Amino acid sequence: MSAARETTRETARAQELSARLDGLLARIDAAVAAAGRPAGSVRLLPVTKFFPAADVDILYRLGRREFGESREQEASAKVAELGYDDVEWHMIGRLQRNKARAVARWAHTVHSVDSERLATALDRAARDAMAAGERTAPLRVLLQVSLDDDPGRGGVAPADLPALADLVAKAPGLHLAGLMAIPPLDAASDASFANLATLHTSLLTRHADATELSAGMSGDLESAVEHGSTCVRVGTALMGARPITSA
Ligand SMILES: *Cc1c(COP(=O)(O)O)cnc(C)c1O
Repeated sequence: MSAARETTRETARAQELSARLDGLLARIDAAVAAAGRPAGSVRLLPVTKFFPAADVDILYRLGRREFGESREQEASAKVAELGYDDVEWHMIGRLQRNKARAVARWAHTVHSVDSERLATALDRAARDAMAAGERTAPLRVLLQVSLDDDPGRGGVAPADLPALADLVAKAPGLHLAGLMAIPPLDAASDASFANLATLHTSLLTRHADATELSAGMSGDLESAVEHGSTCVRVGTALMGARPITSA
């Protein structure tokens, strides 16, 4: 592609993302108002997985300073390529323990912690990264809760949540920030988010500063906001359809 054509394509994409972002922020504001919650009480986390660093940079220039990624290698590459020093990167996807070290170098927050083994690996990795000067603060952790009985989709069973929360709260490399969930495909999201809100209320009785509730995506953010979400993770409604992959 010629440089001029490339510039035209980028300008068109910038206009598209700018318009979609405005629409999405208005949609979130409307959901917050409809739920009777204070303006500004729900943050947008743009999910940029499968989209190129150039798209992230367009969103950066539109003022976004937080991005969600779901695959460690893709995220590491974007973080290195973009080199921002004022962006918080969030790991929202399933995470294997052998990626803990890499994630602790770039992630501000991990939304998908669902086992003591993973939490322990991340604690060690975050402490090592702090000792090596690769990060300045403990890793913020959201515990991903399973709202069905399908372990394949990730998430800790509600019965195991209190013990996992206690372990994370005591880990010097971690900061317990709240909960995250993805509603089961076959269940009404409203009932799932209500269930999640109950679990969050009970977590807060023991861990009062674990106030973050990461819930709601492109298709269900209104329901999540109604049930107390503080952070909606939105990909498709902002970026467009993702390329089909097996991941
Ligand atoms: C991809 C992804 C999202 C965004 O989903 P959309 O439906 O595209 O908005 C949110 N959360 C997680 C964990 C994801 O992997």
